[in-house]
Order: sequence, then C-alpha cells, then structure tokens
Amino acid sequence: MKKVQMPSGRPLGRIVCPHCGNDREFIEVARNVVVTTKYVQNNDGSFTPVEDDSEVTGKVELYCGECDADVSFFHDHLTEMLF
Ligand SMILES: [Zn+2]
Repeated sequence: MKKVQMPSGRPLGRIVCPHCGNDREFIEVARNVVVTTKYVQNNDGSFTPVEDDSEVTGKVELYCGECDADVSFFHDHLTEMLF
C-alpha cells in the first residue's frame, strides 16, 4: 500500500484520491471483525443459520479502488455520506 500525504482541511463535496484522482471507487477494509452466527440443528442432523451478527473491533481503513492508496482520512466523510 502506498502512503499519501493527508490533504489539509476536510473534504467538501466529493472525495478524490490525492494520488491518482479517482473519485468513483473506494474499498473499505474492516480489521478484526467478530462474526457471531446462531445455528439450529435440524432433526436430520443438518444445521440452519437463524441469526448472525458482526461487530468490528479493530480499525476500519479506506483505500482507493484504482491505485490502492490509503485514504483512511476520508473514512469519516464516507460514513457521513452513506445513504
Ligand atoms: Zn488512487
């Protein structure tokens, strides 16, 4: 992963990768995700999942979908703009 300088100030409007200019595709990586799944064992011995839950206990990172630059400093913006 390449390191890029954090731009000063908060992004206004659309975020743009400071390394390659990509403004379309971004990849979120969640570290240390705990996935809990509840199963019911059926009469024939098979299992059916009835409930699952995932919890992120680690860092969530954001990468440019084009050049893989670490743009985690934009992650708060993405969260705010997620509809
Ligand atoms: Zn990029």
